[in-house]
Amino acid sequence: MKRIRQVIVGYGGMGSWHARNVKEKVPEVEVYGAYDIRPEALDSARQDGLVAYGSLEAVLADESVDLITVAVPNNFHKDLSIRALRAGKNVICEKPVTLNAAELEEIIAVRDETGKIFTVHQNRRWDRDYRIVKAAKDQGLLGQVYMVKSIVQGSRGAMYGWRGHKENGGGMLLDWGIHLLDQAMQMFDEKVVSADAHLQSMYTPGVDDNIHLFLRFESGCSYLMEMSTNCLINLPRWHVQGTEGTLQIDDWGCGGKLMKLKPNAEMKWSDDIVYTEAGPTRTMAPRPEYTMNELPLPDEHPDWAEYYKNVVRAIRGEASLLVTPEQALRVMRVVDLLFRADAEGGAQKCCI
Ligand code: NAD
Repeated sequence: MKRIRQVIVGYGGMGSWHARNVKEKVPEVEVYGAYDIRPEALDSARQDGLVAYGSLEAVLADESVDLITVAVPNNFHKDLSIRALRAGKNVICEKPVTLNAAELEEIIAVRDETGKIFTVHQNRRWDRDYRIVKAAKDQGLLGQVYMVKSIVQGSRGAMYGWRGHKENGGGMLLDWGIHLLDQAMQMFDEKVVSADAHLQSMYTPGVDDNIHLFLRFESGCSYLMEMSTNCLINLPRWHVQGTEGTLQIDDWGCGGKLMKLKPNAEMKWSDDIVYTEAGPTRTMAPRPEYTMNELPLPDEHPDWAEYYKNVVRAIRGEASLLVTPEQALRVMRVVDLLFRADAEGGAQKCCI
């Protein structure tokens, strides 16, 4: 079967990452060419064996091109995606798909007009740490999950390059926030009923760089996300509490543990106060060991190539998209509310 011919627009860090990984892992796609406004980027595309286009118009006019991957700074996503769709191309757009929900609605209208495939590269749905948490929740290993903490902490200080400029769609909420929100809203197949954010700008003037996001889901689960840039001692990547167990994932290496209550080992409460290192307390005294078990973490080995293979099948009319713009629109509506919550200093009720 004919391979899907791909051109990458924006051949910087992520554009060249797409080229390398698609070449290695997705034989159904022919990584054919690239376009970038920087001549040096075009040189590296040539060195990588790609056709270097001299203009965007030349890419759009090339009828042999089936798929365009948009990997430019965030503020250009909307216009480039719309131009590519109108030229009859299928489009993978990097995250964040746009700067807000209204921009994405414009793209979706053009997608509907043209009937082309439009999807967003939400690659962190294939992260192993996330899949382990999701599997534990989906398999009911933790009972009803009612508290999630999803934490990503760096230590290099400021946001760099265009990420440090508001007009480029910089800032942490649109950079990492979008990944963690997408994961949250995939993990909980239910409405978000309130959203709050504290977006601090500590090291990169003009954009948020150290942030807390907080979602409340319809079932009552509270979901806290932290992204920070100057953290010298990291918290665990994930900490998840349910009615029957607690799961922790320490870091990207996915070490961690899952502690589960033993079904028939009820804890006997005594009114006697317990003397602990925390001082005299009943509530915070440790739970007796005999009431719980350590279980292995779910054995998850997701394969990112599944994302591109699904896009190929969707282009061929053989499957529906795994990452749809409608899913991304829900996330962007929450993002809009999070910016408002931060500006107004309070949680926003919603039903998204
Ligand atoms: P980058 O600065 O390394 O590369 C961007 C490239 O786009 C540069 O080479 C620049 O010259 C080029 N460019 C700028 N404006 C252009 C235009 N109008 N037309 C053509 N080329 C243009 O940035 P990056 O880190 O590669 O980020 C690019 C996109 O990828 C962003 O949207 C970012 O959020 C996303 N990204 C996603 C992930 C992920 O895990 N999914 C990771 C990193 C970046």
